[in-house]
Amino acid sequence: ATPIAILVGTGRGAQLGILITGPEALEQADRIDTVVLDKTGTVTTGEMTLGDVTTVPGVSRDEALAVIGALEAVSEHPVARAIADARRGEESVDGFRSHAGRGVTGTVGDLAAFAGKPAFAAERGATIPADLVPAVASAETVGTAVVAGWADADGVPRVRAVFAVADGIRPDSADAIARLRDLGADVVLLTGDNETVARAVAAEAGIPTVVAGVLPEQKVAEIERLRAEGRRVAMVGDGVNDAAALATADLGIAMGGGADAALHASDITLVRSGLPAAADALQLSRRTMRIIR
Ligand code: ADP
Ligand code: MG
Repeated sequence: ATPIAILVGTGRGAQLGILITGPEALEQADRIDTVVLDKTGTVTTGEMTLGDVTTVPGVSRDEALAVIGALEAVSEHPVARAIADARRGEESVDGFRSHAGRGVTGTVGDLAAFAGKPAFAAERGATIPADLVPAVASAETVGTAVVAGWADADGVPRVRAVFAVADGIRPDSADAIARLRDLGADVVLLTGDNETVARAVAAEAGIPTVVAGVLPEQKVAEIERLRAEGRRVAMVGDGVNDAAALATADLGIAMGGGADAALHASDITLVRSGLPAAADALQLSRRTMRIIR
């Protein structure tokens, strides 16, 4: 039979907006010693805004926003939404493809277009022209550099523009992370975004360890690696691309307002978005299990 204290703890959780799937989840939460945090939408607001748009000679900002804005309008990634919101025109997209954790491709009008992280352009055989290199570096100090372009009639893809996209850390992230660390947890930032912005976010939020530039499947591998070290790992995330990592962790915690896939893969769902509720969940589990022992 489930101890009364766990039922009380689960009920108390519900009052606090912490939805716990079952008694095991509360017991598991009490044992957590490592908390892995997704960056975008978890530590940061996930509300991305578009900053500088830098283009090659012969391509206007409006043209870049017409072609790449159309392409990104099909994507659901927070980075894409910022560019799609600034879109010009009504061009349609054929053969759209999302390359998880890297970027997107599709045909806009009659142009074979791409947008994604710098390495994604390289994968497509497009090098970043020297006059766009500083724009990539400056975008990565504050956020994500989206490197984008399209092929000419010769079929050769060329980089035409760099979009700087950024969001800020949630105002309550640093306090919540300090609480998690006071509860004895090691905190790790895990992100597909670039190392420079990941380190800047970690410094501002008070996160000592950063694992950046990882593909979605590498997020799972990182959780498995931490577990293989004997750690009891909680993962906190909100996105479709966090679902596998949430399911792999000893305890998956999905943020309120996140993707359905993340909710389904989690053991604990936070009705409120933001990290304070994650700290509340761990604290509640510690208190509850102390009563039982
Ligand atoms: P995170 O771990 O921050 O949620 P993702 O794994 O979803 O990041 O994506 C990693 C990186 O891939 C993004 O930071 C971005 O550089 C690139 N990316 C993903 N989707 C897109 C897109 N639709 N347009 C441009 N870049 C993208
Ligand atoms: Mg996220």
